[in-house]
Amino acid sequence: MKRYLLIAVLGATQLANVMAQEKPKPQDTEFYTPVPAVVTPGKTIANVPSDAIVLFDGKNLDQWVSTNDKSPAKWIVKDGVITVDKSKGNIETKKTFNNYQLHIEWLIPANINLEGQSRGNSGLFLASTGPGDDGYELQILDSYNNKTYTNGQAGSIYKQTAPLVNANKKPGEWQTYDVIWTAPVFNEDGSLKSAARVTVLFNGVLIQNNFELAGPTQYIGKPFYKKAHGATPIKLQSHGDKSVPISFKNIWVREL
Ligand code: MG
Repeated sequence: MKRYLLIAVLGATQLANVMAQEKPKPQDTEFYTPVPAVVTPGKTIANVPSDAIVLFDGKNLDQWVSTNDKSPAKWIVKDGVITVDKSKGNIETKKTFNNYQLHIEWLIPANINLEGQSRGNSGLFLASTGPGDDGYELQILDSYNNKTYTNGQAGSIYKQTAPLVNANKKPGEWQTYDVIWTAPVFNEDGSLKSAARVTVLFNGVLIQNNFELAGPTQYIGKPFYKKAHGATPIKLQSHGDKSVPISFKNIWVREL
């Protein structure tokens, strides 16, 4: 009888020891490495963080080339601002990117003319996958008071999804896009491993919240991932309409 009692007591002690060891502690989920790099934030959202790559600093288009022939970009640079030259076609970055955070400012001129998709149309191709408009377009347009299809208005992922809200400012006022882009990943056989995702703040307002893209922008028909790709340039659109051209400034990117 004594023996059984001893075994029972020992068993209980061992069980208590095990339970004490396994009881979760706050420290279990507190990590000290790796230490995040120190980055000095800008004074406003428009100021460049210390670890950003500046794509346009107001002086020249040295970071950009023509999309079609990779010759030096020929849009107009004046008074610290880039203005689209529609006769020169799309421009894209020399450098290629995978995942990134990007800031860009754009201006629809106060004297903007025409309507619908012809009113200040440009576009930020989050990844340029080829000539012309090949890639994934975040639409730029005057959507302050300009009716068009919602998944084609400013802040839409063109022909895929409308923005969550319309955060446009009036023509004549500078506007900002802050974008977090997660590039698609492809398997070795070219099939899709994980789709592209995007989060966008328009003038500081969330308009795309981790939206998963069905593929690159497709003007006609449903988008799908037709071709595997790695790191790509970032592209700006010269849309083929006849409206007054729009402008850009203060463009920077942080690789993630
Ligand atoms: Mg466009």
